[in-house]
Amino acid sequence: MAFIPKEFIENLLDKVDIYEVVSPRVHLKKAGKDYSGLCPFHAENTPSFTVSQQKQFYHCFGCGKNGTAISFLMDYEGLDFVDAVKDLAQKAGMEVPQQAGSYTQKTNSNLFEVTEKATRIFRHQLKAASHVIEYLKNRGISGQTAQIFQLGYALDEWDGLSKRFELNEQDLLKKTGLTTDNERNQTYDKFRNRLMFPIHDRRGRVIAFGGRAIEADQKPKYLNSPETELFHKSNELYGLHLAKKHSNEPYILVVEGYMDVIALHEKGIKNAVATLGTATSAQHIQTLFKSWDRIVFCFDGDSAGVQAAEKALKTALPLYLDRKIIDFLFLPEKEDPDSYVTKFGAEAFHEQINDAVAYSDLLIQILSKNINLNSLDGKAQLFDKAQPYINQLPKGNFKQIMGKKIAEISGIEQSRPQVFNQPKQQQTQHGENPLRKLISLLMNSPNLCAKMPQALNLHKLSFKGVEIVDKIVEIFNANPHISSAAMLEHFRDSEYSKYLGQLMRMYDHLDDQQKHLEFNDLVKYLQKMTSQQEINRLREKQLHTGLSNEEKQTLVQLLHQRHQ
Ligand SMILES: [Zn+2]
Repeated sequence: MAFIPKEFIENLLDKVDIYEVVSPRVHLKKAGKDYSGLCPFHAENTPSFTVSQQKQFYHCFGCGKNGTAISFLMDYEGLDFVDAVKDLAQKAGMEVPQQAGSYTQKTNSNLFEVTEKATRIFRHQLKAASHVIEYLKNRGISGQTAQIFQLGYALDEWDGLSKRFELNEQDLLKKTGLTTDNERNQTYDKFRNRLMFPIHDRRGRVIAFGGRAIEADQKPKYLNSPETELFHKSNELYGLHLAKKHSNEPYILVVEGYMDVIALHEKGIKNAVATLGTATSAQHIQTLFKSWDRIVFCFDGDSAGVQAAEKALKTALPLYLDRKIIDFLFLPEKEDPDSYVTKFGAEAFHEQINDAVAYSDLLIQILSKNINLNSLDGKAQLFDKAQPYINQLPKGNFKQIMGKKIAEISGIEQSRPQVFNQPKQQQTQHGENPLRKLISLLMNSPNLCAKMPQALNLHKLSFKGVEIVDKIVEIFNANPHISSAAMLEHFRDSEYSKYLGQLMRMYDHLDDQQKHLEFNDLVKYLQKMTSQQEINRLREKQLHTGLSNEEKQTLVQLLHQRHQ
């Protein structure tokens, strides 16, 4: 799919060291010939994430994520393939060839051009919209803050924005969600007479917009871009690109609205992000835990706020690690962060944060809701209600402490077994596809391709994966010095890429010589299998249609070989 030449990727992966890419982002310790650390892609308390310098490959035993330095940047930083390659190339002092880019990359970058242009137009229009500027002033937003957040204004016209785009840009404009069709297929601007908030991705590129009504009777009050190729609500957090500059702060504040983030920023609290009209997702929490060790969720004091907090708490359960902290801040009724910080200032807001409710306390509050803890029955109820929650927590101190606490409150000794014996998994050694082993060996040590016997016709066997073996050998023949990681990159866009990544670890316990021996054994075994297969085929044919002289000779030869 990508148009970056494969040779460039091969050279690039030869120049970069995956350790240098991963170690600034994940704390790694030397473990044997590899490095290990806590996996950045799933919640865990004991390291199952390993980085192999030799193979230039990472792998997590916990969640199965794996890949090369390129995949790591894509997964960790949320970059697309081309950007990840560009980042690495820059570090390696290499220049990505000009024709770089794929079809989707190209449309995406065109979409970004459209969103950036729309942002410029909206910003320009704000300058002339005195009633909107007045509104911002009344809400305590300075011109400087408006600039930082690139606020703008959408005119009160059906085509105020779209008429500023060329005819051939209209399709792209629709793809960004800035225009939409009515039932008579007439296209019109989605945002009209609204204060515009560009929504940025974590790299600061505009991916969507939010628009706030200006007039009191205008409905809805807030309007967001729909989901598009660029915008997936549950992945994105408003203001993250700015907050990331403050990852040295001890916590990140998660609020509900754009205006909350902006008002806090105005008052100097710059480590805040907002969810975009969706509940907090596991992805949000994981993203934030990459940069901060403490999350403070800030909800309104009303019942909707409490409900949102409950939801966030539940989502966070399996992600709640010992070295991470989650707190919940409930503002006084009828206040939101915007109104509160504007009225009372940053100092007062910080005090609120100091008084935030601890995760464990909120959990117990939620569990004991509508339960009378003075009765024995109520206590037993609490204990039972708590178990599914506690089971979801990752193994560690916090889980233990919570378990004890619940037992204490409910007066029930923790004598009940927490973990039920699970039926032992059956050993499924039989029926293993030998090509899996072959592919794994070839991916691990591409130089083994040179030792593949010419006469070995794996197509005779009915195992899956022959085409992969062929492809690996073909790639090797084109570049006999290819590394494991570069080999893996060749399969990036193929359906096999995930499967190959998993196979990379199969022979980790063997050294090079042992791998050679394993390879020789395997090849012998496969040769035997193919000749047996051929014998069967010829015998079958002999019964039905008879064999030619040549075929007879082959059969005799094969039988002879087998008896040797
Ligand atoms: Zn993992």
